[in-house]
Amino acid sequence: MWTRLATIASAAALLLTTAAAAPPTPPASPRLYIFDCGVIKGLGVELFGFKAGEVPVRDFFVPCYLVVHPKGTLLWDVGVVADSAFKADGAPVTEGRSTVNKPLLPQLAALGYTPADITYLGLSHYHSDHTANANAFAGSMWLVRKEDRDVMFGTPPAGTIIQQAGFSALKTAKTTILDKDEHDVFGDGTVVIKSAPGHTPGHQVLFLKLKKFGPLVVAGDLYHYPEEKTMNRFPSFEFNKEQSAKSRADIDVFLKKTKAQMWIEHDAATNAKLKKAPEFYE
Ligand SMILES: [Zn+2]
Repeated sequence: MWTRLATIASAAALLLTTAAAAPPTPPASPRLYIFDCGVIKGLGVELFGFKAGEVPVRDFFVPCYLVVHPKGTLLWDVGVVADSAFKADGAPVTEGRSTVNKPLLPQLAALGYTPADITYLGLSHYHSDHTANANAFAGSMWLVRKEDRDVMFGTPPAGTIIQQAGFSALKTAKTTILDKDEHDVFGDGTVVIKSAPGHTPGHQVLFLKLKKFGPLVVAGDLYHYPEEKTMNRFPSFEFNKEQSAKSRADIDVFLKKTKAQMWIEHDAATNAKLKKAPEFYE
């Protein structure tokens, strides 16, 4: 009898633990959370196709995004510095030009999510300022284009901005290779990954149809400075500038067609105005 009671008690405890660890109830329509995944300081404007003094040098914001859909979750871009670089005191970490104030997983946890709750992982591209915490999400379904994956697990050309240690676990992750222009993540047209190659061979952007906010393109590194668009400039380190030019033109057509706003991920002025988690767009 005692054993039986103990079994019931431990089963109840287990249920309680499970209940406590369950992710929040899915919303009725998609939500977008923006996490502060750091800042990159002091990159020369020449890197982005400008002459010195043509545009002011600006800091780059590093966002990570969580999309919560009624049918699951998508984490989009995972930062520039790995959470493992933080010391126990939680003080900001600087690596090279990048400084991160808060690790990513505690920001997710503050909303009630663990990596096990992330259905899909998407990266705009493989540059190291977008991939630092990818290993933590190797249990999710990775949505990637073959062209980027081949570079990530091949021998990237010298000078490629890549940190393989940050995403090495993705090699054996469940993976969906995206081979169409558009990939409708949850099948209802509200969360769509769209091909926009050039910055890297498999660079992609994220289109969201948010009920209150409206249509939105999260543009990855299609641009860094808004002036790249208005002055028609390209980063010196594009994988293929002609491809980038075509992708920009295609996305312009898409923006007109969908009447979507576009957010440049690194643009500090854009990001200064945006709500950060725990606030969200819906
Ligand atoms: Zn970037």
